[in-house]
Amino acid sequence: MSSKAPRCGLTFRMKTVRVAVVGAGVIGFSTAVRIAEALPICSVTLLAEKFSPDTTSDVAAGIVLAQEFPDIPLERQRRWFKDGFDHFFAIAHSEDAPEAGIMMCSGCQIFREAPANMKPYWSDIVIGYRPMTDRELKRFPNHKFGQAFTTLKCECSSYLPWLEKRFRKAGGRVEQRRVNSLQELSNDFDIIVNCTGLGSKTLVGDDQVQPIRGQVLKMDAPWLKHFIRDVDGMTYIYPGIHSVTIGGTRQVEDMRLHVDEGDSRSILERCSRLEPSLRKAKVLYQSVGLRPGRRSPRVERELVQMGGRQVPVVHNYGHGGWGVSFSWGTSMDALELVRQCLQEIPLQAKL
Ligand code: FAD
Repeated sequence: MSSKAPRCGLTFRMKTVRVAVVGAGVIGFSTAVRIAEALPICSVTLLAEKFSPDTTSDVAAGIVLAQEFPDIPLERQRRWFKDGFDHFFAIAHSEDAPEAGIMMCSGCQIFREAPANMKPYWSDIVIGYRPMTDRELKRFPNHKFGQAFTTLKCECSSYLPWLEKRFRKAGGRVEQRRVNSLQELSNDFDIIVNCTGLGSKTLVGDDQVQPIRGQVLKMDAPWLKHFIRDVDGMTYIYPGIHSVTIGGTRQVEDMRLHVDEGDSRSILERCSRLEPSLRKAKVLYQSVGLRPGRRSPRVERELVQMGGRQVPVVHNYGHGGWGVSFSWGTSMDALELVRQCLQEIPLQAKL
C-alpha cells in the first residue's frame, strides 16, 4: 500500500518516514499529536528525559493569555494565539473537558499605569474584552487601568496525559530517554523535531535560551472563581478545577528547583493584598518550574550535517512564560515545517 507525499508528487511507502519528536512538555506532545494525526506516512516517536508530572509544563498556571514577542510578526502571533484559543475553547465545551483539564475562566488583568496600547492584538480573540469600570477598579487602589475578559485555563497535569493518549491513538510511540546530541538520532530517524524547551540551551547550543524560575502555591480556596493578574507578571491568582494557583516569581538565570520559603511568604502577601480572603486559605502544595526564556520562540527548520548527510531538524522551543497558550498554534507551524521537510527527503537519497 502506498500514499502520496504532500505536494512533492513522489511516492512514499506507508509509514516510511521516521520522525523523532524530542520533548514531552506541552510543546512536544502538541507537536507530536499534530504530526501523527495529520501525516499518516510518518511513524512518530516521542523521546524525552522527563514526562508528566515532572516537566515545566506541569508547573504552569496554564492561563491562556499572550504577550508580544519582539521578533515575530504580529499577524503570526495572532494566528498562534487564535489557533490555541479555539482549540482549548472546543475542548472546554466537549465531554473531554474534565479529563483534559480545560475550563473557561473570567477575570481581569490590572495595570499600575494605563498602557499605551489599550487594545492588544489578542483582545478580539478572548471573549468579552473590555476596559474595567472605575467601580470595578476601586478594589485595586494601586492600579489605574484594567482589562476584563473571559479566557481559558489548561491544567497540564491533566492535559499532558490526555495528549499522550491522543498521540498513542494516532499510532505514536513514546520512549523515555535523554538525548545528549541530535547526532544520536540521525541513524534511526529521517526528521528530528526539537521541542526540548530549556534543554535547547545545551542540546542545540542556543545561548539565547535562559531559565526564568517560577514558583507557585496551590491554595484550597473554592470560593474564588475569578482570576486576577497584575500585568507585571509577578502577582496572579488563577482559580482552577481542583485548587487556586497563586504566584509568582520571575527569577532570570535562577536554576533552583526547590521551594523558597521567602518566595512563598512574598507570593502570599502580594496575592492577599489583591484578594484578602487568601489569608484564610490553606496551602495545599507548592511547586517550582524553569520557564524556557527566549526573546521570541524559535519555530523554524534547518538542515544539520550529521554523519555524512543532511538531516532536517524542525525547532519549536523557547516559549518563555506563555508555552501553554501558544502550544497548539506553534505546533501547527511545526507541522507545516515537517511537511516541507518531507519534500526534501527523497532528494537526499532515502527512497
Ligand atoms: P517543558 O515542559 O520544560 O518540556 C521540555 C521537555 O523536553 C521535557 O520532557 C524534557 O525532559 C525534555 N528534554 C529537554 N532536554 C532534553 C534532552 N536533552 N533529551 C531528552 N529530553 C529532553 N504558560 C502559559 O501559557 N500560561 C501560564 O499561565 C503559565 N504559567 C506558568 C507559571 C510558572 C510558574 C511557570 C514555571 C511557567 C508558566 N508558563 C505558563 C510557561 C509554560 O510552563 C512553558 O512555556 C511551557 O511549559 C514550555 O513547554 P515546553 O514543552 O517547551 O517545555
